[in-house]
Amino acid sequence: MQIEIINTGSELMLGRVLNTHQQWLCRQLADLGFIVTRQIAISDEGAAIQNAVRESLGRADLIITTGGLGPTSDDITRDLIAKLLEKKLELNSEVLRRIENFFAERKRRMPESTKVQAMVPEGATVLQNENGTAPGLVMEVNPPVAPRKDRTFLIMLPGPPRELHPMFLQQVIPLLGKHFPQPDNFVCRILKTTGLGESFVEEKLSSDVKNFAGKGIEIGYCARVGEVELRISARGSGAGEKIADAEKSIRASLGTHIFGTENDSLEAIVVRLLTERKQTLALAESCTGGFISNRITNVPGASAVFLNGIISYSNEAKQKLLGVRTETLSQSGAVSQPVAREMAEGARAGSKTDYALAVTGIAGPDGGTEGKPVGTVWIALATQSETVAQHHIFRYDRETFKFVTSQEALDLLRQTILR
Ligand code: ATP
Repeated sequence: MQIEIINTGSELMLGRVLNTHQQWLCRQLADLGFIVTRQIAISDEGAAIQNAVRESLGRADLIITTGGLGPTSDDITRDLIAKLLEKKLELNSEVLRRIENFFAERKRRMPESTKVQAMVPEGATVLQNENGTAPGLVMEVNPPVAPRKDRTFLIMLPGPPRELHPMFLQQVIPLLGKHFPQPDNFVCRILKTTGLGESFVEEKLSSDVKNFAGKGIEIGYCARVGEVELRISARGSGAGEKIADAEKSIRASLGTHIFGTENDSLEAIVVRLLTERKQTLALAESCTGGFISNRITNVPGASAVFLNGIISYSNEAKQKLLGVRTETLSQSGAVSQPVAREMAEGARAGSKTDYALAVTGIAGPDGGTEGKPVGTVWIALATQSETVAQHHIFRYDRETFKFVTSQEALDLLRQTILR
């Protein structure tokens, strides 16, 4: 099956927006067993869009375009594709009603230009937009317009990710299942690990991988900062059982380094573990500047477990807000095991939580010394029974440093909760 993605948007050509749709759509499709055969990004320019779609119609069974469905003058995808396919645009009263409601609910005046989004090419199926005003559109194209295939499905999706993602998940996936049923059973599983580099993950799995090869199980690795993702997949009869067995043996090899599956985030797992145990957390952050609190509070339901987070950036704040002792600071320095421990213990005592996690470090680029180079981090976790501390050196830019530190801290907490 030939699948082509056409991402439109001059902002993509100017490097002002990262083309995340390309990655996101390829990933969603691959997890369903559909491998994208070609993808291109083009500017919002009439000839470019029409040429790209015309070319794809000569090859593809499924074409997905993104962007250019909005109300502004550069949003021309719908018009151009209708013209290319020789379809008239018709006012769709249901879409218009939804657009009017969208503005009414937000008590905002509806600009006249918005109405253009209710113009739908004749014969197109509308994908409702629950998070914006531009509907998605699906058209079945037959010969001679699609010259090499009996039929090609052309799906037009809006540009903003918060509109495109739910539309794809809720409306496009069922449509694909209906029109492109997988010829053979396809099963795919993602396992997410942390605390081990990609080569260590591979090393630990070497004997599992040898077993998989003979059974038609594929394994892929995707290394990100602070995480390695494993993708195992199989096709055909018994694929489900094969993947379940493979997962069991991978889990036996990697143990608690596996923190989640599919789209799980480490912070969501931590919040879930705490919630299940009715336990609470406080944070004392220096070098991460609130980043761990941010990650935790991005998780719905975090308020049940996260009581407070203190950003104690200065020595004074560490003393005043967390009770770190002057002598500890002067003897060991702000980035040290004793200070990290006192920060964690102070946060736990002050908030009466089950756990308190503290981090202190030198993000750089300045501030390092021979004994404490840039990248030095101390992470401490205070629990009811003990306080543990870890030392790391993370040499990254400041943002990556904050992420990696937060990842290690959250993983220390997760591993401790699991023990
Ligand atoms: P709108 O109603 O917002 O105009 P639209 O369907 O016309 O929606 P575009 O105007 O093409 O979409 O894009 C709107 C915004 O969506 C862009 O400014 C950008 O922030 C985001 N966006 C568009 N394409 C991509 C992409 N390929 N990857 C990530 N973000 C994108």
